[in-house]
Amino acid sequence: MVVVMNERASEVQIDAVIARLIELGMDVHRSSGATRTVLGVVGAHKVDPDLIALFEGVHEVLRISEPYKRASRTFKPEDTVVVMDDVRVGGDEVIVMAGPCSAETEEQVMATAAAVKRAGAKILRGGAFKPRSSPYSFQGHGESGLQMLRRAADAHNLKVVSEVMDANQIELVGRYSDIYQVGARNMQNYTLLRELGHARKPVLLKRGISATIEEWLLSAEYILAGGNNDVILCERGIRTFETATRNTFDISAIPVIKKLSHLPIVADPSHGAGRRDMVPQLARAAVAAGADGLIIEVHNDPDHAWSDGAQSMFPAQFDRLMAELRIIAPAIGRSVCLEPVARRGWAR
Ligand code: PEP
Ligand code: MN
Repeated sequence: MVVVMNERASEVQIDAVIARLIELGMDVHRSSGATRTVLGVVGAHKVDPDLIALFEGVHEVLRISEPYKRASRTFKPEDTVVVMDDVRVGGDEVIVMAGPCSAETEEQVMATAAAVKRAGAKILRGGAFKPRSSPYSFQGHGESGLQMLRRAADAHNLKVVSEVMDANQIELVGRYSDIYQVGARNMQNYTLLRELGHARKPVLLKRGISATIEEWLLSAEYILAGGNNDVILCERGIRTFETATRNTFDISAIPVIKKLSHLPIVADPSHGAGRRDMVPQLARAAVAAGADGLIIEVHNDPDHAWSDGAQSMFPAQFDRLMAELRIIAPAIGRSVCLEPVARRGWAR
């Protein structure tokens, strides 16, 4: 439930309500807005709303009607910002994560990291554990892939996002990666989500291939319920009857999530489109629709990529896209990498 305090409720009154709720075994999240304080309340027990409504300074007590609680905007009205040193996902700046689908070789990761950094990306993406549809496809290098990503990110002052496929990989991936990526195929791996609730690093939770937005937010709830508040949602396209693109990129998920949840949402136009010639259009649209960030596949030599080459951008294409995003973002009061970046000539 949500306890909305009076506009003029005193700190003593607010503290008294919080203390009673905690005494009743509930978890309380306090949001102090410009005019009112709102208390989000969840717990295993049922609390009689009338009991709380009678406290001094309480304006009203509302039930949270959504099945997810901690992920809902009713529970926490203000936006969540996931902070990793100077990188803030969910703030005014649209954060771009870019890099190869898979970490293949030291040279490939290093060259791609240099290119995406030059263009203004803040986070290096790359898979070391790959959830491939076929067991015969390249499955990733595991720990040595993570080491390649970490070394390249450190050399270029980037953060790392990399996929964790199983609960028993959490410790290993966490040694090298700044963000745990949960792939679309694992969105409903509840053992993994539960364990990530106890992890001390942010989680990028991709939307499942056939998941509704409600199911997606319930998956986020598993992580939040474990005590990890740093969840970043990622729309990467869903499966529909349409076969012209690899997936159907659900742009409307962005405003829907913004309305239902306080969690930041980033967009993955690469897996949405499946073709590099359509990635810029979807990326531009996602920023215009209010995405807090993008995750984009870029490869120093995409025609020879070991996975997802067709949707991986050439560095020069990515560079041009970043320049376009810098123009689009201010139209909606946001920015994309304001630091000066080197231009290198654009290819179409
Ligand atoms: C990826 O990011 O390379 C990936 C496998 O994504 P998804 O889980 O969205 O298919
Ligand atoms: Mn990929």
